[in-house]
Amino acid sequence: MKKENDQICSYKHRVLSISSKITWKICEQCQLIYSSQKKDEAYAKNEREHFDNFTPGNKYEFYSIINRFKKYSSKFDELTFFDFGCGAGGELLEAKKKFHKVSGFVPNKKLHERCISMSLDVKNNFDDLHGLEKIDVCFARNPFRYVDSFLLTIKTLINIIKQDGFFIWRDKYFDWHPKPNLGFTKREISQSQTETYLFKDTIIFHLEKLGMKVLYKKFYYDDSFLIIAQKNNQKKFEYKKISNLIILDENTIEFIHLIRKFMNNLKVIISNLFYFLKAKF
Ligand SMILES: [Zn+2]
Repeated sequence: MKKENDQICSYKHRVLSISSKITWKICEQCQLIYSSQKKDEAYAKNEREHFDNFTPGNKYEFYSIINRFKKYSSKFDELTFFDFGCGAGGELLEAKKKFHKVSGFVPNKKLHERCISMSLDVKNNFDDLHGLEKIDVCFARNPFRYVDSFLLTIKTLINIIKQDGFFIWRDKYFDWHPKPNLGFTKREISQSQTETYLFKDTIIFHLEKLGMKVLYKKFYYDDSFLIIAQKNNQKKFEYKKISNLIILDENTIEFIHLIRKFMNNLKVIISNLFYFLKAKF
């Protein structure tokens, strides 16, 4: 089953740009940017080369996320854990040591076989997710760049989370967007470009609309974010006006990225220094 974003997000959508076989659209309400058709060879190449040789996830990053999550729930041995886009199963193996029961989903056939060979309970067909038993914790690390329909996927995920269950989401956001990927320049479109571009406001908008209460959110200088949300939002959803996306020229974007990279490095240096001083004295 494949559904386009514009059939699910029922607001007005307009065409942002059309370039070699790709049409980019934007939702006027939530500012979701998405391509309205498959990117044929680029997509197939991406899937083959990028995912077949997928390396296991970063264990340390996983544990730092789980440590953050501890503040909201501690009885891990009673919770079921589901990894959406579980890749080679590295995080699932780690999660298995902590959680009551773990399972996952990965669309790539080779990776699925690898997970199965490690006796992990991993689904390969997206439609199977609709029939899953409800879970306590849904974990997702960087899958949304590669999904066909952001809205169908996020709705499906939230739906399989139990009432009072959690969504831990580590991914990329695109408030500082490189314009070439949207086809505004003659530059070749990157093979690893995404199907969907999420902005900070778009992410929060859809989580709240789907009844999730955002407990923790952090947007980093390297354009990644971490969100921990819980399914118990009593608040009635209010439509907030999201400010319209401003498409900047390439030089401005590059300058912003440079500044952000500098800030990110500075942050790393300061925290290392702090760590060093703490260890020394
Ligand atoms: Zn929308």
